[in-house]
Amino acid sequence: MSFDYDLFVIGGGSGGVRAARIAAGEHGAKVALAEEYRMGGTCVIRGCVPKKLMVFASAMPAAVEEARAYGWQAEIGAFDWTGFRAKLDAELDRLEAIYRRGQSGAGVTVFDQRATVASAHEVRLADGQVVSAKHILIATGGTPFVPEFDGREHVMTSNEIFKMEALPRRILIVGGGYIACEFACILEGLGTGVTLWNRSPLLRGFDAECRDLIVEKMAARGIAIHTGLVVQHIKKTAAGLVVTGGDGRSETFDAVLYATGRVPNTAGLGLAEAGVTLAPNGAVAVDDWSQTNVPSIYAVGDVTDRIALTPVAIREGHAFADTVFGATPRRADHELVASAVFTRPEFGTCGLSEEAAREIEPVEIYVSAFRPMRSAFAGGDEKVLMKLVVSKATRRVLGCHIVAPEAGEMIQLAAIAMKMGASKEQFDATCAVHPTMAEELVTMRKPVRHA
Ligand SMILES: Cc1cc2nc3c(=O)[nH]c(=O)nc-3n(C[C@H](O)[C@H](O)[C@H](O)COP(=O)(O)OP(=O)(O)OC[C@H]3O[C@@H](n4cnc5c(N)ncnc54)[C@H](O)[C@@H]3O)c2cc1C
Repeated sequence: MSFDYDLFVIGGGSGGVRAARIAAGEHGAKVALAEEYRMGGTCVIRGCVPKKLMVFASAMPAAVEEARAYGWQAEIGAFDWTGFRAKLDAELDRLEAIYRRGQSGAGVTVFDQRATVASAHEVRLADGQVVSAKHILIATGGTPFVPEFDGREHVMTSNEIFKMEALPRRILIVGGGYIACEFACILEGLGTGVTLWNRSPLLRGFDAECRDLIVEKMAARGIAIHTGLVVQHIKKTAAGLVVTGGDGRSETFDAVLYATGRVPNTAGLGLAEAGVTLAPNGAVAVDDWSQTNVPSIYAVGDVTDRIALTPVAIREGHAFADTVFGATPRRADHELVASAVFTRPEFGTCGLSEEAAREIEPVEIYVSAFRPMRSAFAGGDEKVLMKLVVSKATRRVLGCHIVAPEAGEMIQLAAIAMKMGASKEQFDATCAVHPTMAEELVTMRKPVRHA
């Protein structure tokens, strides 16, 4: 049987573009890709990249304050959101163009339109064309979830935040995951008054001791945090958005950001009709090879609801392309994936939290908490927390958690050692780099507790 393409990829985000580029450019497959919005996907256009640039922008006032403490005569003026946004837009255009060139350079045919699955080997494009492919890869990512309530139309999500016309003076952020907490810190840093409401404690699932420190510092910086609180309804008035909470309180804000999780982007994609099994939340069910129950259809990235991070989507896409079109079958590895939460203070984490580890086996907990030199000299109140969770039986470092400036940079390196199976004794055998914060990772001599 002959097909128009060897591979048709639906979705030009982190997972899709990598799979298409490797399948076509390295393994010589005939590949097409459809993207309905902008090439590069969530990470590049409305996720990791613009967010990190906003993190940098929001850190400037504190940096100037610190500069003064170090003897500089420095003053910070007002923040020019319009100017920043124009630069941000230009940067995203530049990155999108690079992703597009990556596809054309590898010989991938790009359709700038929505695509849906018409059958096990057919894709229907929005313009009505139906094309056939030996394999179809679903890489449609996820989309923000906003629950049903009165006034839902007045809220924005992370999709809209980078496009705001002006910075709100007062914002309510609803949610407690890493995206909600990151935007709370970013907007506070840019001068917005931030209130955060969430049904449950913030940063659930992360190491509790680290989480508590981050939340304490967020509150100390003036973010009004209320947990156990949900939105009942929102009314638009001349004074702003009046939000009524489940406890009857009413507060007025200029904007409301919902960051209450993301759902897999499979609505109306034709997957169920093609016989593909979906999980109850709409995620595409796949095996370790990212293959669905319909053998010609695969799925990678957030749409599979495994680990919703860019590097994971990229690796899943790459492993799929090598397996199906190259001579090197391999599964994406989901063990010991390090990640960062770009709050202030920043959080880098890899492996098991103390709470998760002690459910599995007896562990020793090593903690070093201290005031970092740079901030202490400037009279700041920053606090660093370094934590190792160590298996009593094997001595392996099962978890490493860092709350510190640049924690994301540090955890990347600690994760290499962890991935190699390093023991606590091997951490200790590594000579310290002095004076740094990270040296504490190799100088924690005694466990603070056994769990
Ligand atoms: C605000 C925010 C911050 C984040 N920060 C980080 C971070 O710091 N670090 C990190 O690792 N991850 C971060 N993430 C997560 C990261 O962005 C995702 O894990 C990653 O983008 C997933 O890649 P993907 O290929 O699965 O999907 P996506 O990148 O979402 O790409 C899917 C693409 O498919 C397109 N599409 C959907 N349906 C169709 C269709 N029917 N036809 C054609 N095209 C379609 C979409 O337009 C989209 O471009 C963040 C996410 C958000 C929202």
